[in-house]
Amino acid sequence: MEFKVEALKDSKYMPLWHDASNKPETLPALDKDAKCELLIVGGGFTGLWAALQLKERKPDADIIMIEATFVGYGASGRNGGMFESLLAHTANNSEYHFPGEKDRIEELGFINSKEFVATLEKYDIDAHYEQVGNLRVATDQDQVKDLKATYEKLKAHGDNVKWFNQEEVRERVNSETYLAGMLEDNGVDGLVDPAQLAWGLKKTILSLGVKIYEGTPLSKIKDTDNGMLAFCENAKIECDKILMATNAFPNPMSQIRKSIIPVWDYAIATEPLNQEQLDSINWGKYRHGVVNNINMFHYYRMTHDNRISWGGGGHVMYYFGGRTDQGVADDQNRFETSCQEFFETFPQLKGVKFTHRWSGIIASSTRFCMVPGVAHRGKVAWAVGYTGLGVAATRFGARIGIELLGYEPSNILDLMFVKKKVLNWPPEPLAWIGVTLTRHAMARADRNGGRKGLWLKMLDYFNLGFAC
Ligand SMILES: Cc1cc2nc3c(=O)[nH]c(=O)nc-3n(C[C@H](O)[C@H](O)[C@H](O)COP(=O)(O)OP(=O)(O)OC[C@H]3O[C@@H](n4cnc5c(N)ncnc54)[C@H](O)[C@@H]3O)c2cc1C
Repeated sequence: MEFKVEALKDSKYMPLWHDASNKPETLPALDKDAKCELLIVGGGFTGLWAALQLKERKPDADIIMIEATFVGYGASGRNGGMFESLLAHTANNSEYHFPGEKDRIEELGFINSKEFVATLEKYDIDAHYEQVGNLRVATDQDQVKDLKATYEKLKAHGDNVKWFNQEEVRERVNSETYLAGMLEDNGVDGLVDPAQLAWGLKKTILSLGVKIYEGTPLSKIKDTDNGMLAFCENAKIECDKILMATNAFPNPMSQIRKSIIPVWDYAIATEPLNQEQLDSINWGKYRHGVVNNINMFHYYRMTHDNRISWGGGGHVMYYFGGRTDQGVADDQNRFETSCQEFFETFPQLKGVKFTHRWSGIIASSTRFCMVPGVAHRGKVAWAVGYTGLGVAATRFGARIGIELLGYEPSNILDLMFVKKKVLNWPPEPLAWIGVTLTRHAMARADRNGGRKGLWLKMLDYFNLGFAC
């Protein structure tokens, strides 16, 4: 049997993070009509942070949260847990889409992360947070050059970055593929266990009086004179306001559907490593989250019980028509490719077994960061589309969402980041053709030392490129 098939043979299709002994009971679905002030649709980080921040601003707010499956089912319980303060993916992407706001967005991102961590402490949420910074690694000379240029730029900007030559980077994480590395450490970024975070937030908002109904998908909404009416399978909810926190999942509102596309990402996790394996990769000491310095990057990290969780790479996929169904979720070829790339990076771990494989949908916007919006005369708002970097940014997205609904609006609503109208994705087949061409062009650029071809240059020209 081929080594990658063998390594995956006993894995189960389930996010590693969901496979926890303290996974909370799923709460009962809503089975009779209800009323509330604010209805939150979606029990991922955005919905959870929105409920928590609103309760802190207005303790008597009467909030219902409905979640189609269970809290943490979506991207929030499936991500890599790489906790980064960036709100718009990269500083370049901020500058590109919101000229003149780069520094302000960076500052707000940092404050958001500080408050995030303070909230974990305040409510005693054990999300296995580790403040370990992020290591970006280069595996060929072109990447080294590109990474060095980024390093110089960040250093000149005053960021806390460290440059590692080949020997130094391998002391931190020992892969024979690494030629150099850059550590970004702003004193707050690091790692979390995403499901523990989601469930910790769930417990906290329940304790603050938020009512949560799981297994309760929203099917449609209706504007009434006084407020809004939300329809679920067995009940309807009369409310003053609604926050849509449904991210990549299909939403009844066309404005939301048009602004994002669902992109599938595939991940695997190993069994806990033994001491010999840990010694062979040197990673246990610093435990940084790692990404490689290319367009189609991998992201990988140690877990609190010394497994490696590994995701991303060249096989992220957008399926024609924006599929979000489970038919494409458990794709053996994609997991085998991940497995092969894992062992190319860490050949010394050959023989290690993968216990979990899973996939999830990333909500991608044409600006490569979150998309806020408001409609129905200020009664419905949304915060979606974090494009793969939402662990920290969802807290800020949730804040924008509740402020757009009129809860203590602040000057963040004046930012272009909030006000600029997002460019919608085109209808099919254009969306599929565009994304597929871009995916191939990005992979080709990676093979050509980062040099962009005509297609990527054209996207840049129209401000549609991923400016990282
Ligand atoms: C595989 C993967 C890896 C990632 N890795 C990272 C990472 O390492 N770092 C990082 O910063 N970000 C990462 N991300 C992105 C990050 O996980 C997301 O940006 C973030 O979790 C989005 O949270 P959310 O609450 O907006 O969406 P979700 O967590 O997707 O929550 C939306 C919820 O809404 C519910 N819902 C949908 N429709 C309805 C409806 N009609 N009625 C009721 N409920 C509904 C869904 O069931 C779901 O639970 C990753 C994402 C994926 C998929």
